[in-house]
Amino acid sequence: MTEPGDNWSAWDRQHCWHPFTQHAEWASGGEELILVKGEGPWLFDADGKRYFDGNSSIWTNIHGHRHPRIDAALRAQLDEVAHTSFLGFGNPRAAELAKRLTDFFPSGSLERVFFSDDGSTAVEVAVKMAIQFRQQSGEPERTGFIAFENAYHGDTMGAASLGGVSVFFDRFRSFGFPATRVASLADLHSLPAEEVGRAAAIVLEPLIQGVNEMRPWPAGQLAEIRSWCDEQGVHLILDEVMTGFGRTGTMFACQQEEVIPDFLCLAKGLTGGYLPLAATLTTGPVFDAFLGGRDRTLHYGHSYTANQLGCAAALASLRVFKEDRVLEKLPPRVEALTQGLKAIAHPCVHEVRQCGLIAGLELRLESGERFSGEQRMGERVCVAARAHGLLTRPIKDTIVMMPPLCSTEEEIAEACAALGRAVKEVG
Ligand SMILES: *Cc1c(COP(=O)(O)O)cnc(C)c1O
Repeated sequence: MTEPGDNWSAWDRQHCWHPFTQHAEWASGGEELILVKGEGPWLFDADGKRYFDGNSSIWTNIHGHRHPRIDAALRAQLDEVAHTSFLGFGNPRAAELAKRLTDFFPSGSLERVFFSDDGSTAVEVAVKMAIQFRQQSGEPERTGFIAFENAYHGDTMGAASLGGVSVFFDRFRSFGFPATRVASLADLHSLPAEEVGRAAAIVLEPLIQGVNEMRPWPAGQLAEIRSWCDEQGVHLILDEVMTGFGRTGTMFACQQEEVIPDFLCLAKGLTGGYLPLAATLTTGPVFDAFLGGRDRTLHYGHSYTANQLGCAAALASLRVFKEDRVLEKLPPRVEALTQGLKAIAHPCVHEVRQCGLIAGLELRLESGERFSGEQRMGERVCVAARAHGLLTRPIKDTIVMMPPLCSTEEEIAEACAALGRAVKEVG
């Protein structure tokens, strides 16, 4: 509760360790902002100042903060129970959520759901299933993974082994498992046959790579990768942790190229951005390979697997999608984002990359070269944007604009204008 005497900033500096954060700088101020409240796409700091949630609270929020129907679903669930074990027991919310998630795909395709906690664990689950599946299907030699350069699949050791963003992963490379890296479809086609024959699965972020400075893939590539997988007998793992739940304009990115993966990893937006919950969807044939004796069991799970509050939030979020016709309202909002970013006519704007309501505005020197790292252009622009009522984070010098799906055209235009003012001030 908010107590006037509380000193959150001091306690934060004394006791918290923030993710991806250099604390030698954090303590010097400027960076820190204590967020205490939300309302739709807006956030409020401890002084009551209002900000637009320009990156959907690190890519999680979908229908806005304190959505009345999601809040009500959580309150109702609290009157039942918050959490029960999924090890040895079922629960109504998880059962219904599994049913609703599989209903997005043709019957007989993705029909099983394994719940976990975060995007990273959703990927870990897919990795373990993919390996064990081969051991139990007479192809134990298929132990390899193919992943894309500059990919991001999370920070736990297994998910990180598939990642390709060097600043996050190089330090830990020798502690994880090796993966074959490709940069393009052409690379994939030129892999030696023996290497492909040893591959269990290929993993990618469909339509757009997020942490790689918001870089969309060429149209049609996903469908071609699916065909390649079918020809080569390699499983396709799609990491839709960022792209899932309407962010790209369709419920799932893979639907845009009519691709159904063998494993689909979901997290961030699954609960509308309310609670940590993840799901790994897979097919009947994969599931069936784990049936039989005890030695065929998937020995994997977490304490909070299928948490009832999380599942209740996810179900409520899916109902909001339907009741509010969220996907139908997206095209003008996507267009507002396109136009709003286009209007930022500044010589430092090198490129705008967009896929649905996911966008990155890359800043460079007028010569087209990148700013030096020490200049921290991206960071400085985001700090400047706060004064104009916009919160977001950069990836290097690419400013992420990923508004909650509930944002109106006017709100998106306003947020882009705030970013434009910040670019002008700093650039
Ligand atoms: C964020 C993200 C992850 C990791 O999810 P966490 O919930 O942070 O563990 C994995 N893959 C993609 C594509 C992501 O954007």
